[in-house]
Amino acid sequence: MPAAGKKTVEDIDLQDSRVLVRVDFNVPMSPDGHAISDDSRIRAALPTIEYLRDRGCRVMLCSHMGRPEGEVDPNLRMAPVRERLSELLGAEVVDGRGPAGKVPGLVMDGLEAGDVALLENLRFNKREERNDLGFARKLASLADIYVNDAFGTAHRAHASTEGVASHLPAVAGLLMARELEMLGSCLESPDNPVVAVIGGAKVSDKIAVLSHLASKVDTVLVGGGMVTAFLAAAGHMDANPEDFAEIEVARSLLKDSEARILIPTDVVTASEFTEDAEPITSSLSGIAEGSLVLDIGPDTSTSYADVISKAKTVIWNGPMGVFEWSSFAAGTIAVAHAIAANADCVSVVGGGSTAEAVGSLGLRDQITHVSTGGGASLEFLEGKTLPGVAALMDEANEIPQSTD
Ligand code: ADP
Ligand code: MG
Repeated sequence: MPAAGKKTVEDIDLQDSRVLVRVDFNVPMSPDGHAISDDSRIRAALPTIEYLRDRGCRVMLCSHMGRPEGEVDPNLRMAPVRERLSELLGAEVVDGRGPAGKVPGLVMDGLEAGDVALLENLRFNKREERNDLGFARKLASLADIYVNDAFGTAHRAHASTEGVASHLPAVAGLLMARELEMLGSCLESPDNPVVAVIGGAKVSDKIAVLSHLASKVDTVLVGGGMVTAFLAAAGHMDANPEDFAEIEVARSLLKDSEARILIPTDVVTASEFTEDAEPITSSLSGIAEGSLVLDIGPDTSTSYADVISKAKTVIWNGPMGVFEWSSFAAGTIAVAHAIAANADCVSVVGGGSTAEAVGSLGLRDQITHVSTGGGASLEFLEGKTLPGVAALMDEANEIPQSTD
């Protein structure tokens, strides 16, 4: 599978190698830290792990979990992940212990072909997030080849995502490759028309993605918290002086963007930001002063769904409203169903909340690709270079000799 110009596990001879694999096992845990509440990130890494086992590799996995900030946090140990992974693989996953000590090297030496071990939470060590050279070399010393399958952390330049890659031949895992292929192709070589659906909480979070996509796609459908700024920019709502900068961005996008930018023609508002606030559907001329726009309205949902139904490529980031609250979920639900119903298009969903919305509606299987990376997919769609991706070998490169 081509992966945006990067080498993958399929491009390299791995037979019988010692392989260090950065995975994204940052799974949500129950509050007591004992039970995994959603194992989909572990499942997503299985194809790469199985691929390596099938080739007789000895596999050392590593990941972070949560934000322990360089301290050992008993609630963020990898042990529950190791247990779950052992069940899924049908083989015991060995405890590789803390990456800094002598144990991981001994564990690796003790593995047989096809065996798998998992290091302790990388972020128990401060040197991981500092991208410390010694820590990166220590990780690299465990293996002959480095595989990065953690797309969700690829926007961070940490020792296990970036530093380690300069010491070993470094390639993308199968999940990483699919992320790069899907997100990359919908931006660089999509079938037209291309529609971007952009929502979410804050304009400030979305200006970059909005500006980048507006230069790439045919039509942008605007929803979420930024609707207010766009309606103010278009003269439909009173401008709040505090939002001046955001309104200016919206104004310049509406004026100068090459893409057609569609904004809502009706909205669902409330007088306060609470779950049980009364939802009021109104046309643009009827928005009560001081009210909050919490969803796109039904007419907008219909017209957005119509645009989506004619698209050949759809990129969606950001819910259309406060979908966690049923009174303000209709716009997000309508858009999700419209994308799922267009069987003719390539659809790519990025962003943690957006993926959650698609999942909770049971529509995952009807979307071409739901990215596993929240922040990473957003940065990719902003056109940024992800350090964890940049560090991987280019497709055209020769495989270097190991330096350790
Ligand atoms: P993603 O994680 O998919 O990138 P964001 O983090 O940008 O998405 O935004 C998700 C959040 O945006 C959701 O929690 C949702 O409730 C919120 N949101 C959507 N529309 C609005 C709105 N009109 N006002 C306030 N919050 C909103
Ligand atoms: Mg988010």
